Amino acid sequence: MSISDNLQKIKQETDSVGVTLVAVSKTKSVAAIQEAYDAGQRIFGENQVQELRDKYELLPKDIEWHMIGHLQTNKVKYIAPFIKLIHSVDSLKLLQEINKQALKHNRTIDCLLQIYIADEETKFGLAYDEAIELLRSDDFGTLKNIRIVGLMGLATNTDNEKMIREEFYELKTLFNGIKVSFFRKKAHFNELSMGMSSDYKIAIEQGSTMIRLGSTIFGSR
Ligand SMILES: *Cc1c(COP(=O)(O)O)cnc(C)c1O
Repeated sequence: MSISDNLQKIKQETDSVGVTLVAVSKTKSVAAIQEAYDAGQRIFGENQVQELRDKYELLPKDIEWHMIGHLQTNKVKYIAPFIKLIHSVDSLKLLQEINKQALKHNRTIDCLLQIYIADEETKFGLAYDEAIELLRSDDFGTLKNIRIVGLMGLATNTDNEKMIREEFYELKTLFNGIKVSFFRKKAHFNELSMGMSSDYKIAIEQGSTMIRLGSTIFGSR
């Protein structure tokens, strides 16, 4: 199946439930991304700053680029002029740097707080109580050039569907709690980025609003 066939098939599943599709194009060529673009896809996700920047330069400017991988503070400046959404905010320090760079470019950058839900040491993210602490802090209250629009999480890499379902359920529950406690009158706090190729069906069933698919669209890496 071609990239465009794959996209068409997934779009049928996501459009009917109103879920946003982020096409994860990391390691894939500019030509492959162009093919997805020509098939109508406009949202792409990358996990390396340098690669993201290079692809931004080469591809059409109406693409919405999402940063989905771990982001180092000293690299924020390279993506600040154009990044549409950062899924992987995992510290106040990082958020402060994003705010600073956004201010330099006279823009507001949308961010998701990445929450640690998996049972794996290798994954990044804030623990539940750390996320709450960040949102409560005085420092957070002073940041005017970032906007927290929701949460992101990665489930454990396992074929135990029950476990994945429980992790996504927990994240959705935390999302609801945070919305009520911190963003009650803020309609923009509305995104729950969860689900990748192996688990997106469970994620949608558990209330995902944004799925990040790589291999399902572009083939294996
Ligand atoms: C690579 C990646 C994905 C996509 O993975 P696939 O299994 O190819 O769908 C999604 N989210 C993050 C954070 C990733 O790094």
